[in-house]
Amino acid sequence: MAKSDVLLVSSPRFVDHRTPGGHPERPARAEVMARVAERWAATGGPAAAPAPVSDQALARVHDGRYLEDIASTAGRRVRLDPDTWTSPDSEAVARLAAGATVAAVDHALDRGAPGLAFVRPPGHHAERARAMGFCLYNNAAVAAAHALARGLERIAVIDYDVHHGNGIQWIFYDDSRVLYVSTHQYPFYPGTGAADDVGRDDGAGTTVNVPLAAGAGDADLDRVFREVVMPILAGYAPDAVLLSAGFDAHADDPLGGMQLSTDGYAILTRRLWAFAAERCAGRLAVVTEGGYDLQALEECLDGTLEVCAADPPASIPPVRGSTSIAAAALQSVTRAQSPYWPGVG
Ligand SMILES: [Zn+2]
Repeated sequence: MAKSDVLLVSSPRFVDHRTPGGHPERPARAEVMARVAERWAATGGPAAAPAPVSDQALARVHDGRYLEDIASTAGRRVRLDPDTWTSPDSEAVARLAAGATVAAVDHALDRGAPGLAFVRPPGHHAERARAMGFCLYNNAAVAAAHALARGLERIAVIDYDVHHGNGIQWIFYDDSRVLYVSTHQYPFYPGTGAADDVGRDDGAGTTVNVPLAAGAGDADLDRVFREVVMPILAGYAPDAVLLSAGFDAHADDPLGGMQLSTDGYAILTRRLWAFAAERCAGRLAVVTEGGYDLQALEECLDGTLEVCAADPPASIPPVRGSTSIAAAALQSVTRAQSPYWPGVG
């Protein structure tokens, strides 16, 4: 993959979503994203500014009444839940974030190459009718539904944020057209994401939760990817892969209790990129979620671009180290998933 095939969608306007002083999901995160985007563009990387997401795209995953409520926050500072605030420009900025994610997916579909959306506010906690956990619109869910509307049949959403993406899970819980796979610290905010949450009705087996004890590190996550995430992805055979890229499982993160390194994150991303290149005709889209240590965030964003701009590797050696936390989680995950994914684990 040449760098010139990879598109980064970002905007200096992401700084205009103003959270209260001391809030971890702060405008400085957008400044980090803007710096990374400038470096990318300065070294020849293709970049684009997002357009606001359409009402139609939002309405595929959010209730009409909820969309009216969020629209009504324009120009105002509103507390939507204990952690989630708007400022006067937040609604417009959230529309740009979702629009950027849709543009990243469009690039992946049109060009068969990675499209990345570096955005805030994040999205994966936003439910059909509820703002939650710093999230207004569910960027990844909007983008997955957009890909289905474009005619794709199966979308895989992989979420390695330290928190469980309850919003994505519930939006597609009974929908087999979207595979949702989450690795997350557990028990932890938002409380959902037990291994037994596997989807229901048509969606039974297309929700895969890997709840991990605090302290899980690079070798643990790599083992989870090798033994569960990648085999289930292969079995599902998606038309495209969408990565909900939260970097708050980094060891330096002030909110999360996991121990991933920047390199550990890059290896997980590389596994997904290699899969998408080989099995999905290069259709990989990436959207940012959490990540609250600014330096770790900056390194991880740079690392993600670097992985996506490189040729997918033929093979990736396992990460060495203790995997006892992974082993404990894999027992319950394989028990819950074995009816749907025989031979996994
Ligand atoms: Zn998070």
